[in-house]
Formats: sequence, C-alpha cells, structure tokens
Amino acid sequence: MVNKPTEMASTEENLDPIAISEEQFNRASYYVKGLKRGLVEFLKKPKRVNIVNFPVEMDDDSVQSFQGFRVQHNRVFGPSKGGIRYHPDVTMEDVISLAKLMTWKCALVNIPFGGAKGGLVCDTKKLSEKELRRITRRYTSELFDELGPQQDIPAPDLYTNEQTMAWIFDTYDILHPGFNNRPVVTGKPIEMGGSFGRYEATGNGCLFATQRFLSKALIPDHQDVAGMRVAIQGFGDVGAVAANAFHRQGAKIIAVSDSKGGIYSETGLNPEEAERFKAEQGTVVGMADTMTITNEELLELECDILLPAALGNQIHAGNATNIKASLVVEGANNPTTPLADRILQGRGIHVLPDILVNAGGVTVSYYEWVQNQVNEQWDYDTTTEKMRAKIHAAMDTVFNRWQAFMVGEESTHDHMPDFRTIALVIAIERVAHATLLRGIWP
Ligand code: NAD
Repeated sequence: MVNKPTEMASTEENLDPIAISEEQFNRASYYVKGLKRGLVEFLKKPKRVNIVNFPVEMDDDSVQSFQGFRVQHNRVFGPSKGGIRYHPDVTMEDVISLAKLMTWKCALVNIPFGGAKGGLVCDTKKLSEKELRRITRRYTSELFDELGPQQDIPAPDLYTNEQTMAWIFDTYDILHPGFNNRPVVTGKPIEMGGSFGRYEATGNGCLFATQRFLSKALIPDHQDVAGMRVAIQGFGDVGAVAANAFHRQGAKIIAVSDSKGGIYSETGLNPEEAERFKAEQGTVVGMADTMTITNEELLELECDILLPAALGNQIHAGNATNIKASLVVEGANNPTTPLADRILQGRGIHVLPDILVNAGGVTVSYYEWVQNQVNEQWDYDTTTEKMRAKIHAAMDTVFNRWQAFMVGEESTHDHMPDFRTIALVIAIERVAHATLLRGIWP
C-alpha cells in the first residue's frame, strides 16, 4: 500500500497510517496546555468520510468497478482542502491520516482552510487517457455536493495532475451550471484559471523552508544550500521541481530516483537533463554519466540533505540508523515514521516536517482560489514571493517555539520535542482555539 515501507522496515513498527497520525498527535498534544479531552477526540477524528464505488466502461468494452474516497477532516477555519491521489494501494486509512495532515498544514501556514484528502484505487500506468477521464468524471459526480468552492476543494497529489483537475472542474461545472465554479479545484491548467507558480510551488517551498532553516545556523558550516550535497527520492511534481530549485541555488544534486530506481553522480547531476531523459525514457534510470542505485540505497547515501518526495514511510526503524544526511527535508507527506523520528533525533539529525516543508503547494492553491473568486490572474513572482513569506513566517514561528523549549521558557517534560512535534503543537493550538472561539454548536 502507498504508506507501506520497503522490505527493509522493522516488523515491530506499527505502520497503520491512523496509528501513526495518532502517535504524532499524542506527542504534540502532550505539550498543548489546557486541551479539553472532548476537544482532543474531536480533533483526532475526521468530520466526514465518503466512500464511493462505481462502474466504468473500459476501452475494450469491459466494465471495471472502482473505489474512491474523500475525507473531510476539519472545517473550523474554512472549506476543507486537499489533494487527490490515484494509486493501486491507497486505502481509506491513508486518506484519513492525510486529511488530518492537511488540517495541521493549513493551520501552520495560516490559511483559512481545513483539511481534506481524496484517494482513488487505480493504477494510472495501466489506464488510457480516455479511461482516466471517465474514471475522474464518475468519481467527481459520485461526490457531487461533497465538493464545492466553499465546501471542499481538491488539488493534485500522487499520479494526478493539471489535466485531472481540469476534468474535475468541467464535471463539477456541468453539474452546477450558472455559478463561478473555478474555485472548486486548484492546480488547474493556467488557461483554465490555474495560478502561475502553482506547479512549482511545493518544490520551491521545499527550498524556501530549507534556506530559512539554514539561516538559523543550526547546521555547522552550512547557512545556505550552496555547495550542499542533496539526495532526492521521487522525481515528480515535487521532487523534480525541488531538484531544479536547489540546483539553481548552487546545491549539488548527487542523486534522484523514481519508482523504477535511482541514479547517483558523485560530482552532481543536472536536474534539467534528468527531466528530459525521464520524459523520453519514462525513468531517470540509465541517464548518461550516472550510476544506477536502488531507492533504498539513495536514502542511505553520504549527503548533507535528504529530501524524500515520493511515498510515505520511507524512513523507518529499519533504516533510520543508516541515514547519513545531516538534515531531512520532507517534501513528501508522512515519509518518516514516529520511531524513525526518535532515532534521527537521538542521532542529532534534524527533520523539517512535511506540514511545514511542503506547505508551499497548498499556499499557492489558496492564492489560486482567491484569484478565481474574482477571475484575476497574478504573475509568477507575485504568488511565489507571497508563498515564500508564508513559509518563512511559519519556519520562524516553529523555530522560535523550539528555542523557547531549548532555553527552558517552556517545559520539555524531560524530552525535548522535535520540529515535527513543535509544528503540530502550534497547529493544534490554533485549531483548538478557533473551535472554542466559534463556540461549540449549539
Ligand atoms: P508525482 O506523482 O508527481 O511524483 C511522484 C514521484 O514518486 C514519481 O517520480 C514516481 O516515479 C516516484 N515514486 C513512485 N513510487 C516510488 C517508489 N516506490 N520509490 C521511489 N519513488 C517513487 O507526485 P507528487 O505530486 O510529486 O507528490 C510526491 C509526494 O509529495 C507525495 O507524498 C505527495 O503527497 C506530496 N505532496 C505533493 C504536493 C503537490 O503539490 N504535488 C503537495 C504536498 C505534498
């Protein structure tokens, strides 16, 4: 399944996605003062879980049944927001845990959205474009009024893209004529009301979060990414854009990978060349002047920054002791298990958490939604600079709170919380506070 680790994982680790998100929540809620027990239960659970099953006619005239999920975790700050992933192994449990993550992510970067996530069980590599379009339309129509510009707003995620978002918009628009439906989905093609800078947002955000963190001088000899050796797992929307963004700032990209394997170059590779090669060959594996490595080997490379940008649970109890990077930057959602977090912290390796590092995507999605309300289109620099400011502000908030724990202004209860825990503390406090400010109905 999507969030299952590689074969190297420890069999003793509980990798159930719900259990993992509860563990992370429990670690954080320990530091949140005055959180009422009932409120804790409310924040842990999704508001609404939708499961849809539907038939689709395939190109060969056969009929295949598909299952999809859409989970809305929280709407305290506004409509729920979150990507839709297409993957053969995606489960409802994955989608619930990812929807929760979106709530904390939006709260951390101060965006007026709650969290949601969607999943559709299918293997896009085995489907034609026409089949994908029919599946997407039917999934959207099954969800019908569960989605909406003021209700729940999807975006791309694993194996979905701008084209998928255009089909979702079109289907929703046909079912809801007479309204401005553009804000129903983000990550659309530019000519359909998409935002400049959205495609690059998550990868760029990874760079901005890393740069801001390095400026705090916690990593000896590295206050900027220039010259740092970076290994990136996953070479899709997030990984490939991040590789280019880091490369442009003078970082050395020593390894990248995709589902078919990885490539390594001691002297550093050119991400643009890797993109061209992947576009032609369907994989980065085999690119000239590189050595082929496995995804597992990539994670354990001698490097300064390890940037997972593919699936969940890639850094786990089975390999955390072998990670050699001094900094882990989570481009993917949930790439590190709770046990691995403890191991890495014990080894002095900082992990910049997903809800901070990859929040650039949802931030520019929010800007797309804002632009769509008034049918305006801002330029690339405007959206990117606004997003940079949001990521920097969130990083500063997390770092300042971390320092408050370090100098004893806040009690560590004998265990110093890591950056993930602190980011979650801030997000949970904000959502809990807003819930009480609104007043619990009735
Ligand atoms: P994508 O589908 O564009 O790319 C995924 C990449 O991962 C591809 O290169 C694929 O080959 C690779 N991959 C798949 N299975 C793999 C495996 N077993 N080992 C190594 N690589 C593998 O997806 P994306 O949008 O880049 O998303 C990547 C991650 O980032 C996901 O965890 C997603 O939830 C997260 N994320 C994405 C966004 C966004 O805006 N796209 C925002 C926030 C978080």
